[in-house]
Amino acid sequence: MNAPRPAKALPAIAPARCTGCGRCVGLCPPQVLWLAAADPRGWGPKQAVLHDPAGCTGCALCAVHCPFDAIQMLRISTAPAAPQGSSGGQ
Ligand code: SF4
Ligand code: SF4
Repeated sequence: MNAPRPAKALPAIAPARCTGCGRCVGLCPPQVLWLAAADPRGWGPKQAVLHDPAGCTGCALCAVHCPFDAIQMLRISTAPAAPQGSSGGQ
């Protein structure tokens, strides 16, 4: 059995564009998107949220099919972080 590969990109949802239509939620194969209200009490309009980034495959179906162009796939950097304080020569 093959182990799942980590996603190379993750969806970033623009709150100003998301209408909460739910299309991306229904399309996502691993079901890692859901609709949630910004208010912690659950009031107000709902918007799409990536609730399980580790389960996202990076397939981009959500971004391609969002009718409001609210999802952008952002590439995950795999470059190792530069060591702290290593600004170069003396
Ligand atoms: S398809 Fe687009 S507008 Fe609809 S809930 Fe998803 S991100 Fe929001
Ligand atoms: S990129 Fe694919 S797996 Fe990830 S949230 Fe969008 S539809 Fe789901």
